[in-house]
Amino acid sequence: MPLGPEAFVDHHGMFVEYKYRAYLTRHRRRCAMNVARSLGRHTKTEWLGLVTAAGGVCVLCGVAAVEAKDHIVPLSRGGSDGISNIQPVCQSCNSRKGNR
Ligand SMILES: [Zn+2]
Repeated sequence: MPLGPEAFVDHHGMFVEYKYRAYLTRHRRRCAMNVARSLGRHTKTEWLGLVTAAGGVCVLCGVAAVEAKDHIVPLSRGGSDGISNIQPVCQSCNSRKGNR
């Protein structure tokens, strides 16, 4: 629980000063990626295979060209970076998903 505007607790349970909030956002993202990579990893070849299998188009809208990697289970929810958790999407579907 945050104690006030000056301090709050990061996801490791450590106190972080309010002024480091921007740092914490970056840290959280990087940390989520480290967790994801410890659960699974994928190679560029696997990724290209996935794009080829999808016919080079976004698997969500089926229209636009593949521009981004989407994690099916988000990294923020403990998703893996393994190929089975990745789908090829276009930029607009990717950002639409992020805004949910
Ligand atoms: Zn799309």
